[in-house]
Amino acid sequence: MTSHEQPVDSVLETIGRTPLVALQDGPTDVDLYAKLETFNPGASVKDRIGRYMLEAMLERGELSEDGTIIEPTAGNTGIGFAIAAEQLGLEAIFVVPERFSVEKQQLMAALGAEIINTPTDAGMGGAIERAHELAAELDDAVVPQQFSNPLNVEAHYETTGPEIYEALDGEVGAVVAGCGTAGTLMGIAEYALERDDSTYVAAVEPEGSIYGEALGDDREEDEYKIEGIGTHDLATNELFDPDLVDAVYAIPDRDAHDELRRLAREEGHLVASSAGAASVAARRVARAISTGEIDAPHETVVTVFPDSSERYLSKGIYRSFEEWEG
Ligand code: PMP
Repeated sequence: MTSHEQPVDSVLETIGRTPLVALQDGPTDVDLYAKLETFNPGASVKDRIGRYMLEAMLERGELSEDGTIIEPTAGNTGIGFAIAAEQLGLEAIFVVPERFSVEKQQLMAALGAEIINTPTDAGMGGAIERAHELAAELDDAVVPQQFSNPLNVEAHYETTGPEIYEALDGEVGAVVAGCGTAGTLMGIAEYALERDDSTYVAAVEPEGSIYGEALGDDREEDEYKIEGIGTHDLATNELFDPDLVDAVYAIPDRDAHDELRRLAREEGHLVASSAGAASVAARRVARAISTGEIDAPHETVVTVFPDSSERYLSKGIYRSFEEWEG
């Protein structure tokens, strides 16, 4: 894998190869690392699927060279797809539930995309439905479908997973990541389990999300403020494979919020709520490996910080928990 030190021809070539940084404050006998996806040009993990999925779809002829992509998205995927679409000469339309941050919607528009809002009440399912309706109305329009397209998982199997293993010389005991579409975790997990099938794999969701039900855990469905991860409907999250996952950690909003503020103050990470939740869960896994409660092949835990807090300043991400709009 090459570094970012050489000049490159396009912003697309700066995607990936993000830093892996040791987290502090964990048990002394377990190493804990976070992959900082804020270093991507669109400042989130979703730049990876933007480039990977659109290039693969063009190559396979699933998308024509002057075609349009229409994607339901919480925002980061829109930004990642918008960067890639513009560079690859495609049009982009994004269907975004209203509750998601205005910063993300402004960035998608700045990148040349069209935004269509759907009611918050209709959830992500409503946005998915609207995207398909629009695609049927337009010529040459395709919905890449990050929630069901295996290319989403493949992007992480081909890039994020190998980068982690190369950085740690293959010594990875546990992978812990938040699940929105679950593409990030599934791609890294597939790569990890192929190398060592005893690698511990943990999914992270907000308390109020029901991913844990797929592993037989009790979950109470509720609203949550953490943005970018979780599900209210397992049927729309087709990529999540419970067979690859050892546990699903449900993190309360308050814990994720405390942690994202601590991460800024004490460790210099300007990351958002899904990173806060991932950090809480990863520390829990590290402690359990340290006490012997979890059996992992190496004393090394890796998590992913998907995006930056700057994207949520208007929602008061650094204010008190009560003032944080989520
Ligand atoms: N965090 C944030 C902020 C996100 O936008 C997303 C994507 N929805 C994720 C985490 C989860 O990534 P994935 O969709 O790959 O599970």
